[in-house]
Amino acid sequence: MNKFIIGECVDYTFDGKGIVKGEGVTVFVPNIIRGEKAKIEIIHRSNNQTLGIIKELITTSPKRVRPKCKIASECGGCALQHMAYDAQLEFKREHVKECLAKIGHINIDVNPTLGMKEPYNYRNKTQIPFTCKKGKIRYGFYKQDTHDVVSFDKCLIQTELADEILKVTKDLMQKFKIEAYDEDKRKGVIRHVLVRVGVHTNEAMIVLVTNTETFPNRKLLVKELLKAFPSVKTIVQNINHRDTNVILGEKEFTLFGKGYIEDYILGVKFKISSKSFYQVNPSQTEVLYSKAIEMAKLDKDDLIIDTYCGIGTIGLIASKHVNRVLGVEIVKEAIVDAKNNANINDIKNATFVCDDAARFMVDLAMANEKIDVIFLDPPRKGLDNSLIESVLKLRPRKVVYISCNPSTLARDLAYLKELYNITEVQPVDMFPHTYHVETVACLELK
Ligand code: SAH
Repeated sequence: MNKFIIGECVDYTFDGKGIVKGEGVTVFVPNIIRGEKAKIEIIHRSNNQTLGIIKELITTSPKRVRPKCKIASECGGCALQHMAYDAQLEFKREHVKECLAKIGHINIDVNPTLGMKEPYNYRNKTQIPFTCKKGKIRYGFYKQDTHDVVSFDKCLIQTELADEILKVTKDLMQKFKIEAYDEDKRKGVIRHVLVRVGVHTNEAMIVLVTNTETFPNRKLLVKELLKAFPSVKTIVQNINHRDTNVILGEKEFTLFGKGYIEDYILGVKFKISSKSFYQVNPSQTEVLYSKAIEMAKLDKDDLIIDTYCGIGTIGLIASKHVNRVLGVEIVKEAIVDAKNNANINDIKNATFVCDDAARFMVDLAMANEKIDVIFLDPPRKGLDNSLIESVLKLRPRKVVYISCNPSTLARDLAYLKELYNITEVQPVDMFPHTYHVETVACLELK
């Protein structure tokens, strides 16, 4: 095979690479748009995939834009930055439609993806590795599949406050001689810096993830950070001395403030601690949850289930429309947060249970409970068979399925469609410029 081919991009993979065909071969190529012809350099061949890069564009799509970010191609986090935003939204809609058709044998019109007016600076959470090379502190994103750090001054999808906090933290570490962690030698202090921002309260949290329990000039660092950033309401130190890719360790203590910040979603207040799962795009979370609740057409007498409830977000927001909410979630701390969140909002009709969602639903089905609406918001792997069987037994009037993975959504809907009509499928763009897509699907009992 030639090292170079001339080919045309005919379609996309799920992660936004172009599928390029030409000279009898198929190559997967990043940063190319459907319809574009290019000279492609083949850089890697394995059994099932040939990867290439664009050497020269021969024709250019009208949907091509110059990425705003200087490190877009090196960092790889934003795989769609070369596409106009309307084309990104269409790519996501098509992907959902295709998964439903191919995997679930469901042929349905998928609504146009709900996008953002300003698809930048949306992330309310940032977690950035700090490293040390030849005595110099660096921070940045890990280049895809490596631990090579790609430095940045501004990341266009996170808040400007996070950019500033990272820069000032690095300067202060240099000034106070606080070392960054060296992965090879497994020595040094600061491994990651996390920033979380409550966009409606303008409260920020800094988490310093350290290799050691104490470190020199810690008090000074905290004092200077607070002086530089009045919106920082709490600073937490999390200790992680394991040789691991997991960012946060078990143990942590609060260096300043209460150890959590607060934020609102659709008027309901939530406490967010360093470890809480909390959607990262606050304005689109409101779009997503509003759509989910609108689809459910809730009634004041309803008993609803919020499965995979995290810190209780969907259930608590829906609680004022219904008689009773039951939430289930497997992480103990999240259930403690969910109960707390019910209390601080004075919500009395919500109960939260720590359990495996499938086991909980099997029990409900065995007890023949009368459930009106079920919200499902599982992690990427989707639903267990026993959970699907329980839903089919419980026969709620509506099921609203929120999914971050169109493939498992399609697989699960193929089972549920036995008893349910799929009446609406709505992709929501929670992660502009990346290939990820969130989808909410409405199911009505036949
Ligand atoms: N609905 C929440 C959280 C969704 S993320 C929100 O929108 O904020 C998915 C959640 O499922 C996570 O909180 C995760 O801890 C939980 N989870 C994962 N596996 C589970 C299981 N087997 N049973 C119950 N919850 C589970």
